[in-house]
Amino acid sequence: MARQEFSKRIKSKAAERANGHCEQCNKKLRVGEFHYDHIVPDGLGGEPTLENCMVLCLPCHKDKTRLQDNPIMQRADRQRKSIAQGVHTARKPMPFGRKSNLKVKMDGTIVDRRTGAVISGTR
Ligand SMILES: [Zn+2]
Repeated sequence: MARQEFSKRIKSKAAERANGHCEQCNKKLRVGEFHYDHIVPDGLGGEPTLENCMVLCLPCHKDKTRLQDNPIMQRADRQRKSIAQGVHTARKPMPFGRKSNLKVKMDGTIVDRRTGAVISGTR
């Protein structure tokens, strides 16, 4: 997925709203010393809208990225990976129970609940 950058219009509106100050620490900003930040990171589906745009001085932006976005992104990444590998089931579901990913149909066919794919045909 391509990064969704803020449009010029959004940026200028955000800059207007910030009124020359960092929207986090309220420090006065100088030209070239700020970033337009995605409040909800782009990688997590944050939209390039004015509501999701924050004007941050460089130290604030760096902190936010390091302290907030990266851990969230890494966690989301881990979750995606573990789900893909099927290791997110800490508690073992009952075999073919309601929480199990597999179910046995009346005719004995085993299907994957998530995808509906047939795992094994009629016994
Ligand atoms: Zn700041």
